[in-house]
Amino acid sequence: MRKPLVAGNWKMNKTIAETRDLVFTMSMKLRKIEGVEKVICPPFVSLMAASALLEGSGIGLGAQNMHWEEKGAFTGEVAPGMLKELCSYVILGHSERRTYFGETDETVNKKVLAAQKAGLTPIVCVGETLAQYEAGQTSDVVSTQTRAGLQGATSDFASKIVVAYEPVWAIGTGKASSAENAQAVHAGIRQVLSEMFGKETAQAIRILYGGSVTASNAAEFFSQADIDGALVGGASLKVDDFVGIVSQSKVAKGE
Ligand code: PEP
Repeated sequence: MRKPLVAGNWKMNKTIAETRDLVFTMSMKLRKIEGVEKVICPPFVSLMAASALLEGSGIGLGAQNMHWEEKGAFTGEVAPGMLKELCSYVILGHSERRTYFGETDETVNKKVLAAQKAGLTPIVCVGETLAQYEAGQTSDVVSTQTRAGLQGATSDFASKIVVAYEPVWAIGTGKASSAENAQAVHAGIRQVLSEMFGKETAQAIRILYGGSVTASNAAEFFSQADIDGALVGGASLKVDDFVGIVSQSKVAKGE
């Protein structure tokens, strides 16, 4: 069975002091919710403070990006081994990284394989743009991104990878996908994963939906057979909204 997972992507928000406040308040409420994996992904500079506050809470911590090399002359970058000392998860290939920082399926794949080597759990984001959605290309785009991003992963590691389907047109727009549309895309992603790693492994992989998830629409997503949780942006910065989403996600799914 797949344990649900809800991750909060704070993006470039909150100072270290603000992170301390928010993590403290949020963790008091989140730690009481069982049956779901909870993950908070603040900016790099706040990981240390958040990790100290979350120790023993059962709440996971993740970064929002990393480089694929272990070390070297890559000014401004952060290596997998550096993150491993602070957190267990890393968001890779978010559409904002693809759009503004030139990430490609190839660099996402290098990062996924680097996460495998470092023992980090990647949350790999895939999703189509509005133009691709309107042109009926969703399935092709998402399949290609999934195949290219995860190729070369071992089956053992693949079963731990988290995939997040985030239609670009739904991120931060308040226009979430319908739950039925998301379910159809998730089922397609699981089919691709099955072709890549076998049915058993594909059944173990959590596929999250992301894009304008709120406490009001979360339950509808979580009731779908192949939606195993959510990657939450805006609403993850508000205690009651994030706690509300997490508390609705407790249904384990799969074979
Ligand atoms: C995201 O950035 O991953 C995201 C899903 O954002 P939002 O929830 O704000 O749409």
